[in-house]
Amino acid sequence: MALTIFSKILSGEIPCHKVYEDDRVLSFLDIFPLSRGHTLVIPKAPAVTIDQLPDEDAAAIGLALPRICRAVLAATQAPAYNLLQNNGQLAHQAVLHVHFHIIPRFDDGSGLGIHWRPGKLDPAAGAALAADIAARLD
Ligand code: AMP
Repeated sequence: MALTIFSKILSGEIPCHKVYEDDRVLSFLDIFPLSRGHTLVIPKAPAVTIDQLPDEDAAAIGLALPRICRAVLAATQAPAYNLLQNNGQLAHQAVLHVHFHIIPRFDDGSGLGIHWRPGKLDPAAGAALAADIAARLD
């Protein structure tokens, strides 16, 4: 995996505004925040997308995320927030190292803008697809 800006933060080559660290996880403020308190949570393991993340690192992220969300909410007094996790450049991933965004949402409109375009799930196609996905779980 190529070195990313987050590898350089992990190695200490580039500074960050750190909010949390343990053996497997680092969290720091996003340098171009969508709102006050916009925070990133990354595994130390060098995975590009979340499907590549080993179980132990996924578990560590899962434990840390709610704690960091609570701290961000307490510090910013945000009434709501979004968790965003982009995988692949087509899905808006700019930094090719797994990361979760915690993005506080305020009533001044700052935060994550969402353009949600729902379709409609056909029952038969949905049943077949759910079964297909379920059968492929490792
Ligand atoms: P994504 O589009 O999901 O890959 O988002 C990458 C995020 O990393 C963006 O929100 C950037 O603002 C953020 N970012 C890039 N470089 C840095 C940096 N040096 N320190 C903190 N955040 C960064």
